Amino acid sequence: MCLNMTGLMKNDLIINYFDEVIPNPKCELIYNTDYELLIAVMLSSQTTDKRVNSVTKILFSEYNNLEALASANLYDIIAIIKPIGTFHKKAQNTITIANRLLEVGGVVPNNRAFLESLPGVGRKTTNVVLSMLYNEPFLAVDTHVTRVSKRLGLVNNNDDVLEIEKKLTKRFKKYNLLRLHHQFILFGRYHCTAIHPLCGSCKLRCICKEKKNG
Ligand code: SF4
Repeated sequence: MCLNMTGLMKNDLIINYFDEVIPNPKCELIYNTDYELLIAVMLSSQTTDKRVNSVTKILFSEYNNLEALASANLYDIIAIIKPIGTFHKKAQNTITIANRLLEVGGVVPNNRAFLESLPGVGRKTTNVVLSMLYNEPFLAVDTHVTRVSKRLGLVNNNDDVLEIEKKLTKRFKKYNLLRLHHQFILFGRYHCTAIHPLCGSCKLRCICKEKKNG
């Protein structure tokens, strides 16, 4: 049956299955304000959301506004965020981001050029922040989105993240991209994992290029 599926039919199959296994997708980073989201996403590079949440719980309660973060001592921040790795750079980025946000009025603006000029903030982080804060139609591509979209044959194996973003955005433009972004991530994190994906129960087996037996 899958052999004869059109691209649109495959899209519907994927969306319906994601809705079945991840009916309430949401960001697993914990934050209360726009700048906390931005800093948490920046800190999440090369580590897990769980680890980030464990340090931001302390960070955002000890420094509970932008002014406090902007004037924080670098080594005090390092001491808090040490468990997440690359802590020296991330601590410096945190302080610089707080200062830069204060210069533009203390809010995270809907401005890609500004956000991408912040240290530690690239296209992926900007896409996450703009879609979550401003509902902009951007789809952030991380390691999970990359793995799942390659396995499902939605992109080519040698596509880079920008190409993957373009292809997925075009392909799924009629759907809620923010919801889909979270579903891709959570599907990759808990179902289609890198080492032991849950292929036995996966309803996407018929379109998957990497399904495993079992
Ligand atoms: Fe992932 Fe396995 Fe499903 Fe393919 S069949 S999408 S590898 S869980």
